[in-house]
Amino acid sequence: MRTLLWLQNDFRLHDNPALLEAAKSDHLLIMTCWPNPKPWCNLKGIGAQRHRFLAETLAVFQKNLVELGQGLHITGQSAATAVPELVAEHKIDRIVTTAPRAYDERILLEHVQKAVEIDFNLIRNNTLLDEEQLPFELEDIPKHFTPFRKKVESIEIEAPLAKPLRLPPMIKGVRYKREAPEYRARPHPTLPLRGGEQEALRRVKNWIFDRRAIVTYKETRNALDGLDNFSAFAPWLATGALSARFVASEVARFEREITANESTYWVIFELLWREFFHWRAIVDDNLLFLPYGVARKKQLRTFDPRQFTRWCQGETDFPLVNALMHQLVKSGFMSNRGRQIAASCLIHDLGVDWRYGAAFFEKHLMDYDVGSNYGNWQYVAGVGSDPRGGRHFNIEKQTEQYDPDGRFIKQWDGYRPKQPEYVTDASDWPIA
Ligand SMILES: Cc1cc2nc3c(=O)[nH]c(=O)nc-3n(C[C@H](O)[C@H](O)[C@H](O)COP(=O)(O)OP(=O)(O)OC[C@H]3O[C@@H](n4cnc5c(N)ncnc54)[C@H](O)[C@@H]3O)c2cc1C
Repeated sequence: MRTLLWLQNDFRLHDNPALLEAAKSDHLLIMTCWPNPKPWCNLKGIGAQRHRFLAETLAVFQKNLVELGQGLHITGQSAATAVPELVAEHKIDRIVTTAPRAYDERILLEHVQKAVEIDFNLIRNNTLLDEEQLPFELEDIPKHFTPFRKKVESIEIEAPLAKPLRLPPMIKGVRYKREAPEYRARPHPTLPLRGGEQEALRRVKNWIFDRRAIVTYKETRNALDGLDNFSAFAPWLATGALSARFVASEVARFEREITANESTYWVIFELLWREFFHWRAIVDDNLLFLPYGVARKKQLRTFDPRQFTRWCQGETDFPLVNALMHQLVKSGFMSNRGRQIAASCLIHDLGVDWRYGAAFFEKHLMDYDVGSNYGNWQYVAGVGSDPRGGRHFNIEKQTEQYDPDGRFIKQWDGYRPKQPEYVTDASDWPIA
C-alpha cells in the first residue's frame, strides 16, 4: 500500500497517532503545505516570528524523519492542488490526515476528498481526550467552560504513544522540496523559543522538573512576561511539536514523584480550556468567524481603520496596550493576561469589530491556534462562551496591578506621543 500522510501541523514523532497509522504501509510520502492564509480583515500573510518558528519546526521534523529513513515534502501550493497532483503522480492508495479543526479546514478537506476518490483516514491528533472518550455527543458539547470541565475532568487521559522505531521507505521518484520559505527573524531575547520537537521536550523538562516553576504557576501565570511565570508550551502545542497528552503525563509524573498542589492541577485546568475551544470550534463551524459569534448576539460595532491601525502599531493612548502590541509583533508572543487586556481595549475602548483583532493575533502569534484564538476573542467580546457576556478590563487598574513601576511599558516602548483625536473634518477632508 502507498500512503500519503498530509500533515497540517502535528510535526512530531512522539505521541503522533496519524504518523503511526500512516506507518502501516509499504511506501509512504509525508507532506505539508506552507500556510498561505487568504486575506482577511485587511491583513495578509504571516508575521516574521510565526514564520520563523514554523520554519524551524519543519526543519527539525524533517531532520527527525530523515533519521528514520523518511522525509518531509514541503510545498507552497494549496492542498487543494498539491494533494490531488501527488495522488495521481505517485499512484497513492490512501491518504492519512488529521481531522479538520475548524470551518476552513473542513471546506478544504471536502474539496480534496471530492478531487481524489481514494480512502481517507482522518485522525484527531493533539487533544487530551479522543472523541470517543467524551461523555456526550460532540453536537451536545456544553456551551460554557465550567459544565464542560466538570463533565470531562475525571476521565482518564490516555498515556502518550511511543515514537515509531522505523518508517516505511519513501515513495520513489518524488521530487522532495525540503525547505520552508526563507526567513531572517531571530528569536527575541525576551522569549528565546525555537521551534521543533526537541526544544519542546527540553522546555517541558526544564519548566516542570529542573526549575520546578510549575509549583507556583497558579500565582505567577498572570504575569506579562518572565519565562518561569508561565509554561510557554503554547507555540509547540499549536505547531504540534508537542503533544498535549505528553504534557499531561509529565505533570502527573511530577505530582507522583515530587509534589502535587493547586498550581500543578492548574496547568491541566488550562489545558482543558484549550480542549474546550478545540471541540467547540468543530461544532461552531463558521459561527466562530461571524461578528455576532456563537452566542448570536448582535452588537453595535464598526470598523474604524485608524483606530485599528493605531492598535496594531502600538500607538494608542494606552501605554500598556502599546507595549503589549510591540511585544506581540517583535517576539511573536503575548501572555494570557496581556492578550485579554489588548483584546478588551480594541473591542470595548476603541469600539472595533473583534474579528480584526483576532486576525492580527492570527498573523503574529507563534502559538496561533484557530479554536483558542477565535474562541478567546469571542469570549472577551461577549459573543462567545462567556456566561457573563464579555470582559471589559480597566486598563489603568490592570497597569497598576501588573506593571506598577512601568518596567514592562518602558521595555516595550509603550509611552507614545499622543495622537490627535480627529485627522479629518466632518466632510472627511484632512485637517492640516
Ligand atoms: C484574545 C486571546 C487570544 C488567544 N489566542 C490563542 C491562540 O491563538 N493560541 C493559543 O494556544 N492560545 C491562545 N490564547 C490563550 C492563552 O493566552 C495562551 O494559550 C497562553 O497565553 C499561552 O502561553 P503559555 O503556553 O505560557 O500558557 P500557560 O499559562 O502556561 O498555560 C498552559 C497551556 O494551557 C492552554 N491555555 C492556557 N490558557 C488558555 C486559554 N485561555 N485558552 C485556551 N488555552 C489556554 C495553552 O495550551 C497553554 O500552553 C488566547 C487568549 C486570548 C485572551
